[in-house]
Amino acid sequence: MFGQALSDFQMTQGKLADMVTAIDAAALLTYRAAWARDIGKRRITREAAMAKMQATESAQQVIDAAVQVFGGLGVVREHPVERLYREVRSLRIYDGATEVQKLIIARELLMESAQ
Ligand SMILES: Cc1cc2nc3c(=O)[nH]c(=O)nc-3n(C[C@H](O)[C@H](O)[C@H](O)COP(=O)(O)OP(=O)(O)OC[C@H]3O[C@@H](n4cnc5c(N)ncnc54)[C@H](O)[C@@H]3O)c2cc1C
Repeated sequence: MFGQALSDFQMTQGKLADMVTAIDAAALLTYRAAWARDIGKRRITREAAMAKMQATESAQQVIDAAVQVFGGLGVVREHPVERLYREVRSLRIYDGATEVQKLIIARELLMESAQ
C-alpha cells in the first residue's frame, strides 16, 4: 500500500522534473535567438524556428502532464488546467506549424553546412 503511494508520488515528481526541464529548455532556446539578434546576427531563422518548435511542443507536453496530475479536476470545464489544455493546442499550428518549423530548421542546417 505504502509502496504504491510512494511509487505514485515519485511518478508525479518525475513529471514535475520533466515539465520544468522542458520549460527551461524552451526558455533557453528563446533567449539564445534573442541574444543572437542582440549581438547583431542578421539571420536567426534557425534559432527562431527551433525556439518556436521547442516552446510549443513543450507547452503541449507540459499541459498534458498537468492534466494527468490533476486527475478528474484537470478535465472539468473551465478549470485553469482544462482551459490551458484547449488553448495550448493551436500554438503548434499557427505562426508556422511544427512540421514547417522542422523543414525550416533542416533547410537552414543544410545551407549552413554547405557554406
Ligand atoms: C488559433 C489560430 C489563430 C490564427 N491566427 C492567425 C492570424 O492572426 N493571422 C493569420 O494570417 N493566420 C492565422 N491563423 C492561421 C494559421 O497561420 C494557419 O492555420 C497555419 O498557417 C496552418 O495553415 P492551415 O491551417 O492552412 O493548415 P495546412 O497548411 O493545411 O497544414 C495542415 C497540416 O499539414 C502540415 N504541413 C503543411 N505543409 C507541410 C509541408 N510542406 N510538409 C509537411 N507538413 C506540412 C502542417 O504542419 C499541418 O500539420 C491562425 C490559426 C489558428 C488555429
